[in-house]
Amino acid sequence: MNQRQQGITHSTNFINGEWVDSDERIKVENPANGMLVGTIARAMPTHVDQAVSAARQCHNDRLIAGMAPYQRMQLLHAIAEQIRTLAKRGGKLLCLENGKPLSAAEWEFEEAARYFEYYAGMADKIEGQSIPLGEGLVDFTEYEPFGVSAQIIPWNFPVSLVARSLAPALAAGNSVVIKSPELTPLAVALLGEAMVNAKVPPGGVNILCGYGHDTGVALAAHSDIDQIVFTGSVATGQSIMKAAVEHVVPCVMELGGKSAGVVFADANLDQVISSADVGNLFNSGQVCSAMSRLIVHESVYEEVKQRLVACFSTKSIGAGMDEADVTPILTNIQLDKIAGMCARAKEQGAHCLVGGMPLDQAGYFMPPTLIEADANTEIAQQEVFGPVLVLMKFNTPQEAYDIANGTDFGLVAGVFTQNLSLALRASRALVAGQVFVNEWFAGGISTPFGGVGKSGFGREKGQEALYNYVRTKNIAIRLTP
Ligand code: NAD
Repeated sequence: MNQRQQGITHSTNFINGEWVDSDERIKVENPANGMLVGTIARAMPTHVDQAVSAARQCHNDRLIAGMAPYQRMQLLHAIAEQIRTLAKRGGKLLCLENGKPLSAAEWEFEEAARYFEYYAGMADKIEGQSIPLGEGLVDFTEYEPFGVSAQIIPWNFPVSLVARSLAPALAAGNSVVIKSPELTPLAVALLGEAMVNAKVPPGGVNILCGYGHDTGVALAAHSDIDQIVFTGSVATGQSIMKAAVEHVVPCVMELGGKSAGVVFADANLDQVISSADVGNLFNSGQVCSAMSRLIVHESVYEEVKQRLVACFSTKSIGAGMDEADVTPILTNIQLDKIAGMCARAKEQGAHCLVGGMPLDQAGYFMPPTLIEADANTEIAQQEVFGPVLVLMKFNTPQEAYDIANGTDFGLVAGVFTQNLSLALRASRALVAGQVFVNEWFAGGISTPFGGVGKSGFGREKGQEALYNYVRTKNIAIRLTP
């Protein structure tokens, strides 16, 4: 149940098609001013048991798995329609709890609806193969749903990321247990209303909000889940993978990044600057695929630097409700982490061109920050998850690739050049799951996304992601003579 009392939202968990309260509540604050936005019932490990058992029952009763594919398509379209009706109410809630601009928060609901529409279109196209074995045999494959899909979600795009994993899982016929992020759970809880109104069978979608260290751990270690889809930090991903080993449960891991753009001498610098602006500052840099390093050819380095200084120093900083360019960092802990990394970078000889220190005011604000640093320093190696862009210089293409590929991560990368051959050669040389040429964040719901190295494995988005949510069964038949 999602109730509003005196401007505060109070939500509960959604299990087996019902709203389930708890003895304890988690408080949710607005990072722009520390005000209480709402509370949510804290799911405990017992709620995890209830949710997994409801999802298992739904699967065993074939309530989703047994639907004709066109019925699953219709169900996903109905969910999309319901999510759109939540955009205003949910967008406001997400803006308040997460801090992001209101327009971006409303857009998350639109994007979520589009994920459901995209995978609705695929629900009746999950086709197996026929394999020739000679006259006396017939052999074919079928894709069947895993069963119970456990999905653990981070706070930076909570609504959109729920949809990214939930929509293909349902399209393929799974039942799902979602662990929403404890820092921004309220907008996700609203999705339970969409599930009720779209008539998702009981147990088909369960949404729990609890802390990672108990509820998240209990879900990842549960003996009756069939897969884990995790989006979040590397450290949490590693601990979830260890839990998955116990029951031999397959995982999809969408983890962090330290993505680099490479600017060649002939690049269109307007494209470079607008890409660095959106690539680094969108969501205040709290994006796994943010452009966090820009590696620039020495012949255009000074011009790029000057233009970036002008761009980064003129951004508005403020609350999401005011549609500021740069909105708050989610927590004081994260703000302190960013500030600490910037301070250590300066101690290690980095040159801070813009920003570098949190704003001395209420709320958790970090200004856009531009830093020249060596490739092997902490700030150039580790994920910051804030509006901090590290600027570096190169001479030969190989030098640029070595710097770009010289971290533990490999989520996305960018190439800026007018030369098609160079763009393709560079795209192949860069170690990343996705490469953007001349525009950061090019692509969308239909383009596969995922990492290399510590950025994880498996691909979300696109047709390919659907195959995260099915397993192949081969059926071989001996014909009677
Ligand atoms: P996080 O790892 O701290 O938390 C993510 C989720 O895991 C939360 O729901 C949390 O409660 C839960 N959790 C925490 N500890 C757990 C445990 N031991 N067992 C089970 N669950 C646990 O990440 P975050 O701070 O919410 O998100 C930021 C990180 O997510 C960044 O590193 C970012 O790059 C990454 N991210 C990746 C993608 C992607 O698609 N690759 C997208 C968004 C964010």
